[in-house]
Amino acid sequence: MRSKEQYIEGLSRMKRNLYFDGRLIDRTDELQMDCLNTIGTTFDEAAKPENQDLCTAISHLTGRRINRFTHVHQNTDDLHKKQDMTRMLCQKVGGCIQRCMGIDGTNAIYNVSYEADKQNNGATEYHENFKKWLARFQTEDLVGCCAQTDVKGDRMLRPAEQPNPSAYVRIKERRKDGIVVEGCKLHISEASVADEVLVLPTRALRKEDKDYAVAFAVPGDWDGMKQVVTIHNARLREHYPRGFTMGATDSYLIFDNCFVPWERVFLAGENLHGGACALLFALFHRHSYSGCKPAIGDVILGIAALAAEVNNIHKTEHVRAKLAEIIMTSELGYAAGYTASDLGRPELYVPGLGFVPYGPGSYIPHSIYANVGRCLTGEAVYHESEILCDISGGVTATFPHEKDFANPETGELLLKYTKRNPNIPAEDQAQFWRFLGDILCSASGGIMNVGNYHGGGSPIMEQIAITTQYDIESRKKLVKYIAGMSGGDREALSPVAKKNGR
Ligand SMILES: Cc1cc2nc3c(=O)[nH]c(=O)nc-3n(C[C@H](O)[C@H](O)[C@H](O)COP(=O)(O)OP(=O)(O)OC[C@H]3O[C@@H](n4cnc5c(N)ncnc54)[C@H](O)[C@@H]3O)c2cc1C
Repeated sequence: MRSKEQYIEGLSRMKRNLYFDGRLIDRTDELQMDCLNTIGTTFDEAAKPENQDLCTAISHLTGRRINRFTHVHQNTDDLHKKQDMTRMLCQKVGGCIQRCMGIDGTNAIYNVSYEADKQNNGATEYHENFKKWLARFQTEDLVGCCAQTDVKGDRMLRPAEQPNPSAYVRIKERRKDGIVVEGCKLHISEASVADEVLVLPTRALRKEDKDYAVAFAVPGDWDGMKQVVTIHNARLREHYPRGFTMGATDSYLIFDNCFVPWERVFLAGENLHGGACALLFALFHRHSYSGCKPAIGDVILGIAALAAEVNNIHKTEHVRAKLAEIIMTSELGYAAGYTASDLGRPELYVPGLGFVPYGPGSYIPHSIYANVGRCLTGEAVYHESEILCDISGGVTATFPHEKDFANPETGELLLKYTKRNPNIPAEDQAQFWRFLGDILCSASGGIMNVGNYHGGGSPIMEQIAITTQYDIESRKKLVKYIAGMSGGDREALSPVAKKNGR
């Protein structure tokens, strides 16, 4: 496994294809360092003996110890550990750990490439090629990102109906040695600090959309791919540093006549498998969310409790109710993820068929619970900000800049007039409000909220998944029986029916 330093050194050798604010930048540009330190935590923590069980795994391909972020889940224990590792690491950086898109994309393609080959009766070698790619990904301890979201153009039109044929990434040309792709994936987190970019479809696809059923992996600096990056750093600190400064980046990945050799292509034209791949990545990613969002809830809870304490209102009834609300949302999200892990199987929900065996035997989290957890916690994001705003009062919006605290002419006066709770040092109170300003009132705080709301799919996407997969009909039959209507069935939800249909 690599160290954080080896990871950064590897990025420093990559070609320049990152465009930021009108110029080309290096991957190790100072602006990227907060993000690199954030992902770097996944290397630092995996190297600690006490974290070996949680943050590493044994590869089922090579038998070697690997970073869990490169692992394919072999059983329910792996699913539990992925969730717990995500929560632990997100706590350590105070937000998104940034590395889960790679493991989620990897697990999705691992299963889908197997099924596509099976259906193609040996005419394709997607899965064998993917396994070769994966063995290197694991052995070299690479960081992957996952590029799913297309620009999508007119939201009411399907891919093949769009006036711009490249509104979804598509196969433009098929050659003997590979494919040429065109299009743009957007909002792609940590692509600017990733070794490998995994690309897969964003939605269900019809026969007419087959050229959009494409999955592949290329290095982040691959010829024919440009990255236009947005970098979300916290406000600069000169005098009063934070304990840890998290950073994040997102890229528009523009594929312009980009050639991808067959050994890096894992799906090319199988529309049904393309849709399954979109669904599976979303599912794995929503399961990751049941680790990261509870960790963000841990941070939000700590902030809310401290804000109440600094204001000396922590013993009041309304504060207790708000803290309880944050705890309930976080832990229900965690519990949903825990259940999704526990009920995980090598199965996928197929509309009309229910849960069917899927893939070469690796484990997939239970879809209803992964979606329920993601939706519940995603929808709570802005309400949690409202709670922080309520408890803290207006201070975060107008808190003086740090240089005014460092200035001898104003510093002491500001400490005197910003101090609230007599039992907490004024300097700590000021440091706390600066941090809450980062979360509640800064550009990066705002971006984090949008990401936490939409990342992994907007709440409407989870609601669609839940209502199309949940057995609502049997609930209707049960109620018909209890109400004495015709067509009722008392056994509609018997344990056996529940187990099969859920
Ligand atoms: C910070 C951040 C990081 C992200 N990271 C990644 C990443 O690493 N990889 C990745 O692949 N994606 C990533 N995403 C993308 C994320 O998954 C999407 O933002 C999300 O799926 C919503 O898609 P969209 O932004 O295109 O919104 P839109 O699809 O434009 O949705 C806007 C609204 O339109 C509605 N809508 C859309 N289509 C229809 C329709 N056909 N009928 C009716 N209503 C419709 C939606 O429900 C929603 O209410 C990230 C997003 C953010 C904000």
